[in-house]
Amino acid sequence: MPFHERNGLRYYSFDVFPKNIMQAVFTRRGGVSPAPWSSFNLGGSVGDDPAHVKENRTRLFNAMGKRADSIHDVWLVHGTDIVYADAPHPTSEPPARADIIFTDNPEVTLFMRFGDCVPILFHDPLKNVIGIAHAGWMGTVRGVVGAAVAGMTSHYGSDPKNIIAGIGPSIGVDHYEVGADVIAQFAEKYSQDMDQIVQTKNGSTYLDLWTSNALQLKSAGVEQVQVSGVCTACSLDDWFSHRAEKGKTGRFGALMALGANL
Ligand SMILES: [Zn+2]
Repeated sequence: MPFHERNGLRYYSFDVFPKNIMQAVFTRRGGVSPAPWSSFNLGGSVGDDPAHVKENRTRLFNAMGKRADSIHDVWLVHGTDIVYADAPHPTSEPPARADIIFTDNPEVTLFMRFGDCVPILFHDPLKNVIGIAHAGWMGTVRGVVGAAVAGMTSHYGSDPKNIIAGIGPSIGVDHYEVGADVIAQFAEKYSQDMDQIVQTKNGSTYLDLWTSNALQLKSAGVEQVQVSGVCTACSLDDWFSHRAEKGKTGRFGALMALGANL
């Protein structure tokens, strides 16, 4: 089963990663925030009381048996820049602006927030590296997973064929209608993928972010890719969905660290 529960928190873990990697994408259950952020909101810029976000974050780190000050997170900007986190990031300082974060230090806990955009988790068991990338449609069209694989190769010496990737809970094609301008940008860059990543239904056009990122990973040489197949907009009891909740919602968290899930 991909879903697990600990201290009242429910989270998704990929089967594809080895047991010595801590990796969890947390559902919205088990926190203290009221509607529309109910209840395990980890986003600090969505209107929720900062005290609730802080309590939720404390619960997250306690549940996973990690120190809160081991965190290294980033300020998401829908780009392809990478942070190589050699040490935890002091919470008193603003995070760097980036959408990809890696570490090979077991003292670092990687953390990122989502609310429809695609979490992509990475691991190279040979180089003992982990990472998380954030891919909305903009990150996807800009090639964020290709940039991540190139970063693992150049910075850690990874061979793409040893890299394992997991595509996490996020908005599925059934709920992701997009406009002609978005389709045009994908067509310009990924013309060979279009028949697999675009669906048309009753005159509306839908984009498949999971398949687009999976195809980009394959073309970057990554052979081991697991797609969770969990759509955030389909199960609002479990996930925050910016699209399905018309922007009035929270953010769920993805966490990754070198060291076994308890
Ligand atoms: Zn859906």
